[in-house]
Amino acid sequence: MAVTAIVFDVGETLVDETKDWEAAADECGVPRFTLMALVGAAIERGESHRRAFEWLGVEHVPHGFAEGDLYPDALPCLRALREQGLRVGAVGNMGVVHEDVVRPHVDFVASSERWGVEKPSPGFFARVCEAAGRDPHEVVYVGDRVDNDVAPALAFGMQAVHVRRGPWGRLHETPPGARSIESLLELT
Ligand SMILES: [Mg+2]
Repeated sequence: MAVTAIVFDVGETLVDETKDWEAAADECGVPRFTLMALVGAAIERGESHRRAFEWLGVEHVPHGFAEGDLYPDALPCLRALREQGLRVGAVGNMGVVHEDVVRPHVDFVASSERWGVEKPSPGFFARVCEAAGRDPHEVVYVGDRVDNDVAPALAFGMQAVHVRRGPWGRLHETPPGARSIESLLELT
């Protein structure tokens, strides 16, 4: 099936969240290891990473990502795919504040906060295809999480790629029907 659009998740797919989590721990006044471990516990329990802040009893307001937070393969991949004539987008479960880092490098960007719908809801993937201007079977969704990115994209009739990086990406097993990659450059 011919692919004409490719849409990326943002956190741990295009962006390395390490500095963001380190800053969050510093702002919460807890050792970085403590917050990272609590996030891991939330992942293992199948709960939102936001549980870590609940366990700590703190309020956390996310900041935007910086260009330096992008994984080294992100911009070369986005550039190459656009040069190949593909329509390229980036939409994740995130705040509007996180859209800015990728906006200059894609054809469209959005967020769950902007759309008012989150992954893994089919409504999210319907909006992805609408923004891409394509039928689901022509669109590939690329993400690090199988539960939020890969499985629901496949269920919606899209194609899906699992990036094996970040804590979710390494813990989750790639399901049948999805492609598994270690680097975004494998897409070009
Ligand atoms: Mg992600």
